[in-house]
Amino acid sequence: MGKRLLLLGGGHAHMATLASIKGLLSQGHEVTVVQPDDYHYYSGMGPGMLSKIYAPQEIRFATRLTVEKQGARFVRASATAILPQKKKVRLDNGQDLEYDVLSCNVGSAVPALTGQEKGLCFPVKPIVSLLKAQQAALRLLSRGPVRLGVIGGGPAALEVAGNLQRLVQDAGARKARVTLFAGRKFLADLKGPIRKRARRNFVRRGIGIVEPGYVDRLSPDKIELENGENYESDLTLLALGVNPSALFVDSGLRTGPDGGLLVNAYLQHPDYPEIFGGGDCIFFENQPLEKVGVYAVRQNPILCHNLQASLNRNGLKPFRPGGDYLLIYNLGDGTGIFSKGRLTFGGRPAFWLKDWIDRRFMKRFKAME
Ligand SMILES: Cc1cc2nc3c(=O)[nH]c(=O)nc-3n(C[C@H](O)[C@H](O)[C@H](O)COP(=O)(O)OP(=O)(O)OC[C@H]3O[C@@H](n4cnc5c(N)ncnc54)[C@H](O)[C@@H]3O)c2cc1C
Repeated sequence: MGKRLLLLGGGHAHMATLASIKGLLSQGHEVTVVQPDDYHYYSGMGPGMLSKIYAPQEIRFATRLTVEKQGARFVRASATAILPQKKKVRLDNGQDLEYDVLSCNVGSAVPALTGQEKGLCFPVKPIVSLLKAQQAALRLLSRGPVRLGVIGGGPAALEVAGNLQRLVQDAGARKARVTLFAGRKFLADLKGPIRKRARRNFVRRGIGIVEPGYVDRLSPDKIELENGENYESDLTLLALGVNPSALFVDSGLRTGPDGGLLVNAYLQHPDYPEIFGGGDCIFFENQPLEKVGVYAVRQNPILCHNLQASLNRNGLKPFRPGGDYLLIYNLGDGTGIFSKGRLTFGGRPAFWLKDWIDRRFMKRFKAME
């Protein structure tokens, strides 16, 4: 007998499942996808959208179209609670949806900073907020001197500051200054050669780095540091790292220490075997995973297989995270920094490779639209 599969979020870990909807329907199952937006934005190209290297339509998947074209149901809403005993999910539009098998790929969010609501401030997630930041920055740049702040000391802050500088430069705005507030230390968790290349690039392009630069709070046009120093900022981007969606803690489900949905080797919740998950929103109990899209992408085929297997009562496959992964940082000036294992190199070839990999990923899954 057909079963009801409910997918929360059409993120990077659900791509293969979204591509398999037609097959699931032909087996007699019902599929419903819930997402707050008709589109899902690919984070790897998000900073490039900020600088206008990419247009929004180049970096987003038309989730709604993909789902509906295959004959399944798309609900534009956010899940606010999972009621595992009743096998129901509550949505922010007041609707309750029942499921036999549930899969969660609802991502992560940037932690809030005191005072962020008072000024022009944009967290880097969801990725679509980079588009809003770009539009607000361009409005400011057309009026006169502007101070732009990026708060964060990791890879996302690096890419966002570099691409913001590109936006400023292409807008011909000579009196704009991009400053990155790096917390303890700029790129503290990355290898020395990456840090050195990134710093050299920023110094050459006039991007300021404040370190140590722990930000305490924001006021309408200021960034206030813990040490009492103040910096003026007309527009601020927050790249402070991410936490898994609060959905699971709010629902009283067992989570990992970071609040991510606890899952076993089969990407399955240990208490409720009909609940699965992937991407930034899970805590993989065998081995904590970095919050990088690479893992979400690697989970795709396993999650897709296990959801089908669970609907059809077949055997599950374990997820093996794999070894070292490749990361390439887009610095926004046509160059990148490549890193895998002990190999690091920079320059245009690094960016070309990233651009090629990212476009290939988009092409593969956009083919469903
Ligand atoms: C600026 C930036 C650049 C990055 N670059 C890279 C990179 O180059 N390479 C890399 O490996 N990683 C990169 N990352 C990390 C990467 O973004 C994440 O690891 C990746 O997005 C995780 O994918 P996901 O599908 O789990 O979550 P997301 O991409 O956040 O997708 C979650 C989806 O769920 C939906 N959703 C959210 N809440 C709900 C809800 N309550 N109900 C229903 N649906 C919901 C959202 O609309 C979204 O479509 C970057 C991160 C940032 C911030």
